[in-house]
Amino acid sequence: MAIISSVQKAVELLADSQLVGLPTETVYGLGGNALDPMAVASIFEAKQRPSFDPLIVHVHAVEAATQLAEVNGIAERLFRVFSPGPLTLVLPKKDIVPDIVTSGHPTVAVRIPGHPVMLEVLERLNMPVAAPSANLFGFTSPTTAGHVETQLGEKIAAVLDGGPCSVGVESTIVDVSGEEPVVLRLGGIAVEALEQELGRKLKVRTSSSNPKAPGMLLAHYNPGTKVVLAQNKEAAIEHLKNDSQSVALTFGEDAWCSHPKLNLSPKGNLNEAAANLFSYLRELGQSGYTKIVALTLPNSGLGRAINDRLLRASAKS
Ligand code: AMP
Ligand code: MG
Repeated sequence: MAIISSVQKAVELLADSQLVGLPTETVYGLGGNALDPMAVASIFEAKQRPSFDPLIVHVHAVEAATQLAEVNGIAERLFRVFSPGPLTLVLPKKDIVPDIVTSGHPTVAVRIPGHPVMLEVLERLNMPVAAPSANLFGFTSPTTAGHVETQLGEKIAAVLDGGPCSVGVESTIVDVSGEEPVVLRLGGIAVEALEQELGRKLKVRTSSSNPKAPGMLLAHYNPGTKVVLAQNKEAAIEHLKNDSQSVALTFGEDAWCSHPKLNLSPKGNLNEAAANLFSYLRELGQSGYTKIVALTLPNSGLGRAINDRLLRASAKS
């Protein structure tokens, strides 16, 4: 496998139904021709992803989305305001979309990614690209081309290098196929921003919306080392106490922490924290410590999406 910088080469490989690691603003995707069931099957196989977990289809414009799905009024509005960007909409699918993409659902998840290199690929290819995150199922999402190479290098044709991802957490997913919109995944677009645009409160129905039931959480984003979540600095200090094998993942002012640590954003900036999240988790997971104590972030805006990822990373599989 090669790390490449040629958009044209990536387009040729995708047109030939091969798999290519692709840069997006959220995380790197494992892309394949969404209209070719064999290419899509090879995505599931390369990731070892269960076939009941549907894929997001990427297009370069709303017009291209209308060929795959029924883009209703609310979807059109959200696309116009938030796309290209980290927003995925679940819409009633058209027949052209193979069932393997949607795991048999009558709906399809569609996104217009906000990365110039990815948009160029989609425009030149002029075909929709199915692309889940380019990691093995259950592990930390990749935010650089090198991360993709490490996890999937043997299994794919190439990775197109578009630099480190600017957003760093996956897209926010909103199901707009029913009577009222429902948020299915917290991500790069804050729920508050969607609510403001739509002038209403949104239902959030993710498997982490009930934090009292962490047993219900799908264990995910495993960095290779046990992760313990601390609700505040006092709890973090307690978890770190007398444990030279543990390391901290902090946020904001962290002079209180005298243990080895990485700080997601010393300035306390949530965007910066999201952009650093997965690569810092990876780094700590590979650093030889046996426990990562992660401080919970303020639970608003992107902080909610980051806390969701930390909670899943700390869930036992
Ligand atoms: P990713 O793993 O980032 O590719 O995100 C894919 C996720 O999108 C899936 O795990 C589902 O949660 C969601 N998704 C994709 N397609 C659909 C769909 N048709 N209906 C509901 N959720 C979907
Ligand atoms: Mg993923």
